[in-house]
Parts: sequence; structure tokens; C-alpha cells
Amino acid sequence: MNVFVLNCGSSSLKYQLINMKNEKVIAKGLVEKIGENISYLNYETEADNEIEIEEKINDHNKAIEMVLEILQNKEYGVLENINEINIVGHRVVHGGEKFSGSVLINEDVIKALKENIKLAPLHNPANIMGIEVSKNLMPHTPDVGVFDTAFHQSMPEKSYLYAIPYEWYKDNGVRRYGFHGTSHKYVSERGSELLEKDYKDLKIISCHLGNGASITAIEDGKVIDTTMGLTPLEGLVMGTRSGDLDAGIIPYIMKERNMDIEEIDQALNTESGVLGISGISNDFRDIGEKADLGDERAQLAIDIFCRRVKKYIGSYAALLGRVDLLIFTAGIGENAINIRKKIVSDMDYFGIELDEDKNNCRGKEVKISSDNSNVDVYVIPTNEELVIAREAKDVVETYIKNIIKGIVG
Ligand code: AMP
Repeated sequence: MNVFVLNCGSSSLKYQLINMKNEKVIAKGLVEKIGENISYLNYETEADNEIEIEEKINDHNKAIEMVLEILQNKEYGVLENINEINIVGHRVVHGGEKFSGSVLINEDVIKALKENIKLAPLHNPANIMGIEVSKNLMPHTPDVGVFDTAFHQSMPEKSYLYAIPYEWYKDNGVRRYGFHGTSHKYVSERGSELLEKDYKDLKIISCHLGNGASITAIEDGKVIDTTMGLTPLEGLVMGTRSGDLDAGIIPYIMKERNMDIEEIDQALNTESGVLGISGISNDFRDIGEKADLGDERAQLAIDIFCRRVKKYIGSYAALLGRVDLLIFTAGIGENAINIRKKIVSDMDYFGIELDEDKNNCRGKEVKISSDNSNVDVYVIPTNEELVIAREAKDVVETYIKNIIKGIVG
């Protein structure tokens, strides 16, 4: 069985074709700058064929059409025909409260997703577009939606409610939803496999540190808290997002700088975080280089980022009462040796001790804690596409079983 995983952004799409027999990626790639004067399409196969195309690609329909053609190309394709794609699995950012698990997409689901656009105006429209294009180009192939928010739906009310008028929750859906759910789910389950312990017996803190960043506390296989909130703006300091701040800053600075709602939203989402502090970049590689050369604001950005991560690890340790496993994943978590070191420095009080030699690694699945550490600390590269493919396969198989049992008409 082959699952085609699609992750559509507003002007980009990432795709992977995964053979579910052995969970190997047969082909994968990226289309960027869709709708601009020059777009880029990249395609790689398991057999090391690689193609780069540079031309104007008007829209997602054309982009997916081109990818499907390449997948069937006589010379470097991997499929005889399109029917060898058995399921399409779509990443959908915001499922709201309606979706606590992955779903087979039908007209009702698309309608519900459209109702959630207001909760994720930057992401959900592109995800819905991907689903509509897929239905158009592969009308006989089932589509499954896998939500970034779904894993976090196990959170208790005391974690997801904000201390605001209750009607804002009831009438307007204002609550903590959490994001990066597929990543936190993958690395935490993988962590329990590596420890050879039952997932439900473990208390886990999972740190997804990429351009967007979040931390999740997991107990009994359920999320008990996570740092992102109604939107992916809350919590950690990120590449360009502020993370937590005093809500009083917003009316104050809007008045002081004569800003409107769009401007403040834009500033907090795209001009803040380590970019805002350093004035250099949102990328830790650039900031690290400048900090090494003595740039004080670059060093400050790194210090503030690490301090916020440490603060949340501490507060989640307090909530969990014990930590068995601390995980680092995503671009920074997998690759930034010094950032990991800085975050877990002086945490022996919490039973966390790093082995510096083991920590000297990038992008690999490695235990980086010392033998004396009470908490196992791991780097686990995330694999959101594999979670989407597994979920998509499960949803379709369950649907078929239910038809056979006569549950679904
Ligand atoms: P992601 O959003 O998970 O793709 O992470 C992207 C971010 O990871 C980049 O913006 C960098 O800040 C960071 N990153 C990637 N590679 C490295 C590296 N070798 N050292 C430090 N940071 C890295």
C-alpha cells in the first residue's frame, strides 16, 4: 500500500510517497514559490534520482499535477500509474475541538475545516486547497486529514482553559489547542520504544525546537500541557514569533506606535522572536556565528531562547511530578549542540545530566544523557510524514473493516 503525504502551505507544498509495507520513502520533494514568477520543484527518489525544475507554477493544482506526472515518468518515475497511490494523507494544522483524531475526508469534513479557518487563517486555507486539488486530480483515492492539534485534544480542561470570561471559550472557541501534535506524538512514542518501556507508564517532556517551537508534557500517553495556545504564537521564543508576553503590551504599543490590528499581529508573528532580539536572522546558524564573533544582541537572543525552554522544562517537571524522558527534536533540537547543552546545563537538581561527548551529534537518534542522569535525554529526529501516513492507513483500514462489519452503510 502506498500513501501520498501532502503538506500544503500558502505558496509551497511538501510531499512524500511512502510504501507502508516497509514504511520506506519511495519519493519525496518540495514545490516552493507557487504563484510567483519563478517556482522551484524538487523531486528525489529512493534510488537517488533527483530532479530540479525552475519555471512558473501558477497554483497548487498545477504543482500537484506536475508532481503526479513526475511520479509516473517512464525514465525517473516510481509509479506505473496513479492508481498505485492508495491513499492521500493531508497535514491539516487546525482541527479545532471537532477533530480529536484523524478523519476520512468527505464534504461534511471540508465544511467543518472551512469553519476552522478563522482559528488558523495562515494555514488552514492552504491545507483545504490541497485536499480539494487532490480530490480533483485523484477522485477515486481516499483522502485522510491528520491534524496538528489532534494529539493535544487529550489535555484536561484545567490546562486548556484561559483565565478569561468563560463565554469567550463557549461562544468563540478561545482555548489552548496546541500544535506540532504529529511531531510530539511521533518522538514520544519512538522514545518509549527506545527505552523499551510501555508508553503509558512514562512521563515525557518533548521539545520540538524548530523555526516554530513548542514543548509538550505527556503522562499516561496523554498530553497534560503544551506551550502553544489558541494560535502557534504562545509559549517559547521562536524564529520570528514572540511566544509568551504580557497581554498588556499589545494595547500599550498599539497606542504608542499608532499600530492597527494587522500591524501588531504581523510584528508579533514575523518580526519578533530571536530575529526581533538579535536584529540579524531567525536562523540559529546565523545568530550563532554572530554571537561567536562577539555580537551582544545575538548572544542575548540565544540566552533568552534557552532560558524560556529551561523555564518550561522546569514547570512541566513540576506538573508531571517526575520526568522519565526528555526529548529534543526539529531543526534546532536535532542539530544545535550548544543550544541543547545550554538548555540542560545546571539541571542536575532535576536529575538531568548531559554526556557532552554523546551530545556532540546532529540529526541522529542518540541518547545524550550521562549514565548518572535520572532522566533519559534523547535526540529523536521527527518524522511527521510517517505519522500522517500511518494515521491515513489506519483510518482507511478501520473504515473498510466497519463496512465489512456493516457498521458503515
Ligand atoms: P525546522 O523549522 O524544524 O525546519 O528548523 C529550522 C531551524 O533549525 C533553522 O531556522 C535553524 O534555526 C535551525 N537549525 C537547522 N540546522 C541547524 C544547525 N546545524 N545548527 C543550529 N541550528 C540549526
